[in-house]
Amino acid sequence: MINLYGLELKKLQALLTEYGQKPYRAIQLYTWIYEKKVTSFDEMSDVSLSFREILNRDFCLSLPKIHTKQVSSDGTVKLLLELEDGYKVETVLMRYNYGNAVCVSSQVGCNMGCSFCSSGILGKQRNLLPHEMVGQVLTINNLLKEEGRGQHVTHIVVMGTGEPFDNYDNVMDFIRIVNAQKGLAIGARHITVSTCGLPDRIREYAKEGLQTNLAISLHAPNNELRNKLMKINKVYPLEVLFPAIKEYEQIAGRRVTYEYLLLEGINDTKECAEELIKLIKGTNGYVNLIPYNETNKNDYKRSSGNRVHTFLDILMKNGVKATIRKEFGSDIDAACGQLKAKVGDQK
Ligand code: SAH
Repeated sequence: MINLYGLELKKLQALLTEYGQKPYRAIQLYTWIYEKKVTSFDEMSDVSLSFREILNRDFCLSLPKIHTKQVSSDGTVKLLLELEDGYKVETVLMRYNYGNAVCVSSQVGCNMGCSFCSSGILGKQRNLLPHEMVGQVLTINNLLKEEGRGQHVTHIVVMGTGEPFDNYDNVMDFIRIVNAQKGLAIGARHITVSTCGLPDRIREYAKEGLQTNLAISLHAPNNELRNKLMKINKVYPLEVLFPAIKEYEQIAGRRVTYEYLLLEGINDTKECAEELIKLIKGTNGYVNLIPYNETNKNDYKRSSGNRVHTFLDILMKNGVKATIRKEFGSDIDAACGQLKAKVGDQK
C-alpha cells in the first residue's frame, strides 16, 4: 500500500499517469486530503467510482498511532508516535504567540553520536519516510482541531530525533509536501531544517530553490572542543564546514542560524564567546543560545542564567546578533530522545 501522505505533488502526478489518470487528479487528491481533510477515498465524491476502487486497493491514508502523550503546564505537547513497524518517534508541539510550531523527527535514532544528546545513544535504526514526517504534522493538527480553537500548525522545525541531511531525499519530499500551496501550505520561511553540519548536503540544500531556513548545530568555536562534543566534526572540521555555509549564504541568499548549546564550564566561557565571534564574523548568521536540557545519560550541566547572559552580552557587544532560545516543556522530558528513552522498549 502506498501512503498518499508521502507523495510529493510531482511524484504523485507521475504515479497517477502510470494509472492512466490525468495529472490534474493529483491536485484534486491533494485538495481532498489537505484542504478538505477527508480521511477516506470514499468521501472523494468527484473522483470516479472505478478510480476510488483502485485507490482503496493500492493506496492508504494512515497516520502513526499515539503511543504516549505528555502535556506540559506551558501547553507544550510531546507525543511518542508508533510507526507501522513498531518503531517509535517523538514529536513536539510548541505554542508561540505567533503560531504553533511542530518539532519533527527525521529518523528513528541517529548516527551522529553527539556526546550530549540522548537521541544518538542507540544509533540510527532507520530513516523516516516522507509520510511518517507528514504524519507527525497531521497528528498535531488533529490535536489542535480537537481543542476547537480554530488553530493549526503554522511552523515546522526539523529538529527532533535524527539528522535530516542523513535522510536528505525523504526530508526534501516532506518539505515540498508541507510547503505546497495545495498541500499544508506552510510558508517556506516558517520551515527550518537543523543539521549537525554535512557540507555536501548544505551545498545541495542551497540549490533546492526553497526559501526555507537552515540552522547549524555549532555548539563549539574550535575543532578541539567540537571534536569532543560532536564526533561529526572529526569528519567535517570547521575549516571544511564553513566554506559550505558561506556558499549556502551566497547561493540561497539566506543567512543561517547557529545553534549553540551552553554547557557549564565546557563551552560557555568568555574565551569561547570571543572565539565564536571570530569564527562566524565572515558570515551573516546569528546565534541562538540553547539552555541545555540535562539528562541522566551524561554529566553535562546546564550553564547558569548568569553565564548565559554574560555569553550573550559578549556576542551582542561585538555586533553578533544573538538570542536565547525560549524553553518549552521542561517538566515533560523535553530534551531530544528523553521521552522515548523513558518508555524504554527496544523500538
Ligand atoms: N541532527 C540535527 C537535528 C536534530 S538535534 C542537528 O544536529 O541539528 C536538534 C538540536 O537539539 C541540535 O542543535 C542538538 O544539538 C540539540 N540538542 C540535543 N540534545 C539536547 C539537549 N539535551 N538539550 C538541548 N538541546 C539539545
